[in-house]
Amino acid sequence: MRTVRTVAELREALREAPRPLGLVPTMGAFHEGHLSLIRRAREQNETVVVSLFVNPAQFAPNEDFDAYPRDEKRDGRLAEAEGVDFLFAPSVDEVYPPDHQTYVVMEGIATILEAEQRGTSHFKGVITVVTKLFNMVGPDRAYFGQKDAQQVLVIRKLVRDLNFPVEIVVCPTIREPDGLALSSRNVYLSTPERERATALSRSLNAADEAVASGESDPGRVLAVARAVLDEAGIEPEYLELRSLEDLSPVERVNGSTLLAVAARVGNARLIDNAILGGT
Ligand code: AMP
Repeated sequence: MRTVRTVAELREALREAPRPLGLVPTMGAFHEGHLSLIRRAREQNETVVVSLFVNPAQFAPNEDFDAYPRDEKRDGRLAEAEGVDFLFAPSVDEVYPPDHQTYVVMEGIATILEAEQRGTSHFKGVITVVTKLFNMVGPDRAYFGQKDAQQVLVIRKLVRDLNFPVEIVVCPTIREPDGLALSSRNVYLSTPERERATALSRSLNAADEAVASGESDPGRVLAVARAVLDEAGIEPEYLELRSLEDLSPVERVNGSTLLAVAARVGNARLIDNAILGGT
């Protein structure tokens, strides 16, 4: 595996790389969720590029950009063990030189849910950096986790709206044995908070069971999920049933309904989601 720090070096290295080429964009602090994306990319492509970049543009000023866990040495070892060809780990100045002035913004689905909590600049930062990474790397496929369900829809839309010749591959959410979705931010949780945090996935499961036993009324499904969070003393930032197509509100819960939750537990802001009523 080769670690590359500049766009020029990356372009040169990739000029003759065998295709297809898969890109896994990450902010590092690898866990099994990241590794599952890398493994899928390794299976499906001749060349695998993993980008490691904590993107300042997607953090609001009050968020955890400075505290975000970083361990490039460990990430490099893990990526190498998975057979990654190139680790692209640019500096902030390489991605956003001081005279950088261009951003990509999306209307509609990039202005709700996460955007209402984190500010509209969150997806502006995500979309801009993904656009830049696509232009820097020129992948045939790019890999994203279902854990960030709204991000997946936003990226799919970006690819359609701006005609990127990239196939988006979405990988399932990897969880701890007790259900907690893996996240780089789980390191912020104390032991009791870590225990309370399982309420997020338990609330999704409870809703899923209600739907499996015939409930299709959104209000009643949400009440089931809400009760689990209440019991753990968790007040969600949002707990919403939305269409999996365009995140519009739903009148009935069916096989393409997303239940998405975001909540603060201690210092960690956690998100999780489930697709309800699936077969
Ligand atoms: P991040 O480094 O947090 O930006 O995540 C990089 C990629 O890994 C994103 O596409 C995430 O959706 C994905 N990811 C994060 N956590 C998980 C998880 N628990 N299971 C599967 N994919 C994940």
